[in-house]
Amino acid sequence: MTDPTDRPIDRVHDDVVPDDDGVAEDEPSSSWGFATKAIHVGQDPEAVTGAITVPVFQTSTFAQSAVGKHSGYEYARTGNPTRTALENALASLERAHFGVSFASGLAAEDAILRILEPGDHVVLGNDAYGGTFRLISKIFTRSGISWSAHDLSDPDRLGTDWPAATKMVWVETPTNPLLTVVDIEAVAVAAQSSAARVVVDNTFATPYLQNPLDLGADIVVHSTTKYVGGHSDVVGGFVATNDADVDEHLTFIQNAVGAVPAPWDCYLTLRGVKTLALRMDRHNANAAAIVDLLQNHEAVTSVLYPGLPGHRGHAAARKQMRGYGGMVSFRVGSQDRANRVIEATRVFTLAESLGAVESLIEHPGVMTHASAAGSPLEVPDDLVRLSVGIEEEDDLVADLRQALDSIA
Ligand SMILES: *Cc1c(COP(=O)(O)O)cnc(C)c1O
Repeated sequence: MTDPTDRPIDRVHDDVVPDDDGVAEDEPSSSWGFATKAIHVGQDPEAVTGAITVPVFQTSTFAQSAVGKHSGYEYARTGNPTRTALENALASLERAHFGVSFASGLAAEDAILRILEPGDHVVLGNDAYGGTFRLISKIFTRSGISWSAHDLSDPDRLGTDWPAATKMVWVETPTNPLLTVVDIEAVAVAAQSSAARVVVDNTFATPYLQNPLDLGADIVVHSTTKYVGGHSDVVGGFVATNDADVDEHLTFIQNAVGAVPAPWDCYLTLRGVKTLALRMDRHNANAAAIVDLLQNHEAVTSVLYPGLPGHRGHAAARKQMRGYGGMVSFRVGSQDRANRVIEATRVFTLAESLGAVESLIEHPGVMTHASAAGSPLEVPDDLVRLSVGIEEEDDLVADLRQALDSIA
């Protein structure tokens, strides 16, 4: 454990994870279930007024009682109580000792990648978020970091073709937008022999459905813009780890680079966190109904969803996830047909992003993954991606059915 004295108070979350011996500590929160943690960890009533909701501490600085004597907060880039509450709550949901939040998912990824030094290599799944690919291939390559894309979903090939300089393995599971499943435990075992750190982008699954640190990952990253925030009203990022060195690096970068989330954004994200469990249950149920429709519709040539028994990653998904989530992709045979389906929906709104209460539909090849065109991460041009929201199941099914009927 590193010295916590130069950090804001309450940054070490020993109360929410079991000890090394596996026995939970005496704190009541250590035995709480997900929804209770989401609503209470880091969110005690405010000390001065008893405000039940964590206030938006909209302040840039904090008064000190004497030179060098402060409450744990000095300057709001370094720390802010609203941000601390969010970090503690999210760390507990990822069952992590440490959590660090950022202004966006990509700012969080940038902070993680800054662990690397010139000459280091990143192994990247061959189906990663387009922005992750752009960050590594266009920005970090300038600092002497190399990368290569690999099929991390094939357990027999893990580690066999990773360059010797590999210091980080970047996993997304399920992947965006092909919903490929990567066996996190298998990657962690393969990475051990090359002393590489395993990073898992858990944005699609959320901590409600999957906890990568428990499966051997070193670092978990989220775009909280998606399911964690859940309401399409805030952009943010979050990193969780049990590695004190990684935490020290991240808090240093958070303060030194300054891509911090504003207090108001932390408040909005924390508000979303409170209902994450409820929302994910509904996302799961609605997605299952949509998958049922897609599988039985003649206009659809294939359906990509980890919950399907015929999906290549179904066994791994069953092993490591507690549900299959709200993201569904499908193919319709041509880009023109994909465009026509996308333009024919009324409840599903044509937009980038995902993971919020409203259902969205998009064309990854042209929209979210355009930056991967011509690369090993390119996606098929007849692919349609759905972010199934939490509206009435019947309305979603009827809307998509009429859109598919229009091209059948
Ligand atoms: C959106 C997204 C990101 C990037 O997060 P931002 O908050 O948009 O910066 C990273 N990974 C995945 C899987 C995403 O969906």
